[in-house]
Amino acid sequence: MYRSHNCGELRAAHINTEVTLAGWVQKSRDKGFIVWVDLRDRYGITQLVFDEERTSKALIEQAQNLGREFVIQVKGTVIERASKNPNIQTGDVEILVSELTILNESMLPPFTIEDKTDGGEDIRMKYRYLDIRRNPVKNSLIFRHKVTQEVRNYLSNEGFIEVETPYLIKSTPEGARDFVVPSRMNEGQFYALPQSPQTFKQLLMVGGMDKYFQIVKCFRDEDLRADRQPEFTQIDCEMAFIEQEDILNAFEGLTRHLLKEVNGVEVEKFPRMLYDDAMRLYGNDKPDIRFGMEFGELNAVAQHKDFGVFNSAELVVGIAVPGGNNFTRKEIDKLISWVKRPQIGALGMVYARCNDDGTYKSSVDKFYDQDDLAKWAEATNAKPGDLICVLSGDKNKVRAQLSALRMELAEQLGLRKPNEFAPLWVMDFPLLEWDEETERYHAMHHPFTSPKPGQLELLKTDPGAVKANAYDLVLNGNEIGGGSIRIHDKETQSLMFDYLGFTPEEAKAQFGFLMDAFQYGAPPHGGLAFGLDRLVAILGGQETIRDFIAFPKNNSGRDVMIDAPAPIDDAQLTELSLKLNLKS
Ligand code: ASP
Repeated sequence: MYRSHNCGELRAAHINTEVTLAGWVQKSRDKGFIVWVDLRDRYGITQLVFDEERTSKALIEQAQNLGREFVIQVKGTVIERASKNPNIQTGDVEILVSELTILNESMLPPFTIEDKTDGGEDIRMKYRYLDIRRNPVKNSLIFRHKVTQEVRNYLSNEGFIEVETPYLIKSTPEGARDFVVPSRMNEGQFYALPQSPQTFKQLLMVGGMDKYFQIVKCFRDEDLRADRQPEFTQIDCEMAFIEQEDILNAFEGLTRHLLKEVNGVEVEKFPRMLYDDAMRLYGNDKPDIRFGMEFGELNAVAQHKDFGVFNSAELVVGIAVPGGNNFTRKEIDKLISWVKRPQIGALGMVYARCNDDGTYKSSVDKFYDQDDLAKWAEATNAKPGDLICVLSGDKNKVRAQLSALRMELAEQLGLRKPNEFAPLWVMDFPLLEWDEETERYHAMHHPFTSPKPGQLELLKTDPGAVKANAYDLVLNGNEIGGGSIRIHDKETQSLMFDYLGFTPEEAKAQFGFLMDAFQYGAPPHGGLAFGLDRLVAILGGQETIRDFIAFPKNNSGRDVMIDAPAPIDDAQLTELSLKLNLKS
């Protein structure tokens, strides 16, 4: 028996008990005749005491030679601690050690295994197994476990069946590049790793599974924007014989359950917002609604004056920054430089101070009088003491710019409180999205998404205006899930492929299996998928997903611990009938 108790377990009630503990040496203090060692395992820390008087000199010497992160086993007696430590659960007691066994020695770790470590991100990732010994990472992984357990409990109780789907498949169209795997047995042919189990879950509905879920890895070969991973986890779900309302209710239920069980937070019915309204009011399809600062469109009140910049803009739009009239000129200049950075790309920013006495002072006083500015204040809902920030230009661009500014200001003003949760359904997304690069429409969600009833015809005349039965679940300004009601008949699905620029042959080659299935009694169905990594991070009150993933990849898609990806040897290439033609 390696241990009778763990390192987080012993209390005053255990005093005088003989125990055996095992764990890692966190640190030791050596007073010569007495040595204290903090012994750590997943459950906590217990203080060991080696005392020349009460035990033996030999034992003290053994203790003095212990290094950080040595793995040891001790036998001893639980005794009351002279100076108690209220900061740890075992702080009332210590172990008077009678026997010490070194189970394994350790090299000096390259960074301190403390909550606040001296190790930077790179070194921690290289030695991730040491990083996992630290409380913040360990607790994040335990937290993730709790969330996934609750997901499984809830969905199981609601009658969902967890079904595994294959990883070696054919391309699934979720809008990213595929990771591919060469097939040795089928020369010159490749599997693709699933970007999601989308087509399989639809086939499970055709197969009559009725309610499916899976906690599943998905793979997308994208350039990694901050905080994305090439492999990530979804809670993937699908239901048959449902309408959009059923899906929204089912997964609102799951989210509410998680917030309650994991965070102890009760949330009202989730508000719903149309995609068009989200774009108009927040410039963003995943608005953070924990704070106001809604957009006020100013075309009607700011154009047709002598200010050319606004007159020539497609959209003039502003936000009121609460208390922003306190900003110094220097602070405002900083904001202006911020929106002009290439990442944001605004040409400039106009502002108006709302003075406490009800007057205004703007950066364009030459063109706008007090009455004009009062109308700006009305449109942006600005109060005395606020600052109105106004951007102008191309509608889509300017909305994105003002949205970025709104989030930045909210961050600066501390309005994005991690322990406040504001879920929101965003609905009726456009079916298609124009891609500047390929000059083609793409499915905004994926090609299996159904258009709103009666809108199929509109595809011919105004494809960009067609709305889809598609919805996203947004939490605190992050998309945590998204899905749609699917097309379930062959004709509509063929028509969709056609509109998306697939020839009938291409559609058949890529998705023939799905269209075939639709001819054998496909039930109406729909679903959604949550991004588990992000969901866990947000519920955990953080925005970075990396600490909630045991072995994450870096921004270049590398695992620096195992050093992957890596070349393979010639024999392996030959076996796969592959030849490299490297660019560099
Ligand atoms: N497969 C979709 C995705 O990965 C989710 C869904 O439509 O259910 O975003």
